[in-house]
Amino acid sequence: MLYNSLSRKTEEFIPLNPQHVGLYVCGPTVYGDPHLGHARPAITFDILFRYLKHKGYQVRYVRNITDVGHLENDADEGEDKITKKARLEQLEPMEVAQYYTNRYHDAMDSMNVLRPSIEPHASGHIIEQIAMTQQIIDNGYAYISNGSVYFDVEKYNKDFPYGILSGRKLDDLMANTRTLDGQSDKRGPFDFALWKKAQKEHIMRWPSPWSDGFPGWHMECSAMSAKYLGEQFDIHGGGMDLLFPHHECEIAQRCASSGHRAAKYWVHNNMITIEGQKMGKSLGNFITLEQMFSGNHPKLTQGYSPMTIRFFILQAHYRSTLDFSNEALQASEKGFTRLMNGIAALQRVKPTDKTTIDISALDKKVAEAMDNDLNTPVVISTLFEWIKTFHLLEEGKESITAEDLTSLQKSVAVIVENILGLKNQKQNESHKELLDGVIGMILTERQHAKERKDWATSDAIRDRLKELGIAVKDSREGATWEFSN
Ligand code: ZN
Repeated sequence: MLYNSLSRKTEEFIPLNPQHVGLYVCGPTVYGDPHLGHARPAITFDILFRYLKHKGYQVRYVRNITDVGHLENDADEGEDKITKKARLEQLEPMEVAQYYTNRYHDAMDSMNVLRPSIEPHASGHIIEQIAMTQQIIDNGYAYISNGSVYFDVEKYNKDFPYGILSGRKLDDLMANTRTLDGQSDKRGPFDFALWKKAQKEHIMRWPSPWSDGFPGWHMECSAMSAKYLGEQFDIHGGGMDLLFPHHECEIAQRCASSGHRAAKYWVHNNMITIEGQKMGKSLGNFITLEQMFSGNHPKLTQGYSPMTIRFFILQAHYRSTLDFSNEALQASEKGFTRLMNGIAALQRVKPTDKTTIDISALDKKVAEAMDNDLNTPVVISTLFEWIKTFHLLEEGKESITAEDLTSLQKSVAVIVENILGLKNQKQNESHKELLDGVIGMILTERQHAKERKDWATSDAIRDRLKELGIAVKDSREGATWEFSN
């Protein structure tokens, strides 16, 4: 088995079931606005999801929503991130989780990130998490301490290698860590919580055999991947920042409960930096996606469209770090426009009676790049090489038959829209303008009907629009419209 590296060539990727692929990706903790750091894993695994489907696999893509148990310091101490936000804003914790889940969905939809097949919430899987914790206790790899349950890393390490994913060794880790101060409920410094007893003020709590409390953060992914993808599944993904300890703990939990590892391959995307620095609230370079789109942040000289951000992320390989700067984003904005113009030129090509170019070369090169560890930068540079050809074809300096032109146009559409998930937003914007104009015209007709007191026509127009999912609102200033749900 390969760890810490997906077989980087797809021909070496052998799914457990020939037709179906199970993919689990650690999703967001929903306590704040989605930011650049959320965009990269979402887009990386969107590409993997799209490409596996393109290759003909049925993919069950599970990406969780963390709405409980993620404590402030990422370990077992501090306040729950969502509870804290709820306390500060005087909201119900689930209100906070829902609000930021919606914000996350909106931002991802705008970047054309496909929604996963299943999006389970940690708080909706407490029973499964309690059951897996009990199994680990029964197998002797966890202990109960003051109502909390901890994973016994030292005991586990005697039977299974702890650190297999990150390449760390428990002995080395121990040597570099100060011993526990005696206040802790844990026996060893690397032991982690499977279940935490809730303090009096802790709102989100559930009954368990050990205490009223809540699951440890690492447990949700183990329990939910087991529930929806089974004892073993193909690919587990997430950001590189989750590799240790989160993913290491997930492996330990699944081995300790079932006796073997769950995920066959692991894929990690690298981090995003801003002008060479890590992004952080304290560094003043923390940029939410909404700020990115609007340009409303001191670090930004302008706003960038969701497609520019997507294109920018795809221009780097997912395992390389990616540095955001205005210059780099402006270059991506130009590049994306050049790509869209090239595709438009291909639509204008007039076919002739012979073909002077090798049209199969495009698909071949793209497949090679994607099969080689999802090399999207090579796919994009290949498209740019072809854009030159599209312009030559448009100018009549190269020629192509009608049949070849159709298949070339189809190839380009599949690569750009299906595999890379890029779409021409200008086109969408012009559709929106068109729709605005057409509905405006209808509403003017309705206004005329009202003026001549032809209520039957005015109501009929309103009702027909309603059937089409368009709600008309009448006010003193005239009628406006919006999409009804
Ligand atoms: Zn996870």
